[in-house]
Amino acid sequence: MTALIFDPVYWREVIKRPDWYFEFLDFFRKHETGLKGEELDQFRYDCRQFFEQALQKGGVALASKGPNLDEQRQPVDTIVIHHTSNHPGYRLTYLNAVHLLNIYAPYFANPIDQQEKSLKGEPLWSGHFKDGKQVFWGYHWLMRMDGTPTRLLDDNQLGWHAGNWEINRRSVAICLDNDYEKQNPSDNILQKLAAHIKDHYPNVESQNIIGHCEAREGTICPGGHFLSEWKPKLLERLR
Ligand SMILES: [Zn+2]
Repeated sequence: MTALIFDPVYWREVIKRPDWYFEFLDFFRKHETGLKGEELDQFRYDCRQFFEQALQKGGVALASKGPNLDEQRQPVDTIVIHHTSNHPGYRLTYLNAVHLLNIYAPYFANPIDQQEKSLKGEPLWSGHFKDGKQVFWGYHWLMRMDGTPTRLLDDNQLGWHAGNWEINRRSVAICLDNDYEKQNPSDNILQKLAAHIKDHYPNVESQNIIGHCEAREGTICPGGHFLSEWKPKLLERLR
């Protein structure tokens, strides 16, 4: 049934408008609260996959220029760990759509910073480009299950990932490509993560290596047993 809720033919027209996100956010929230379980998962997937493809084809109205949203970037002194809360093999193009819809669209619909009030209704803009395309990722790295780190944002780019502006300004986000709500990362992943942190961020102090749940209360990210079980193991490997 949910395939009928999201009508790609209709939305293909809507997303040509610079302020498409007002209509989309209303639509998305309305259905998110009305659906449950598998139907809800399917609905979210249908929306996100549509945007994933539309972004790749250039079908979504985006700004081609805009303010420097990295202006408040600070030197990196904090690392925030996340998980995708999905099956391994998360597509970077899909992640791009998820962060466009979950982070940038709500912010442009309701900008908090006084100086950014004028963004409201403007086409979405991150100012971050990769391979000539604008990207909306909030993370700096995605670490795959074999421990391979993929670079997303550069360290001088401000990622909107922690739900905490002060922390966003000074942190890099490393996301693990799995769902760790109930299970924990393997020793191998923790080893690779520790090595990656040592390699790239040797000056970050261990008390500033935190989980998303420590930057913003109420999220389970990066996992249900992060604080009690695997954060101590990670820190031990960093000594
Ligand atoms: Zn997170």
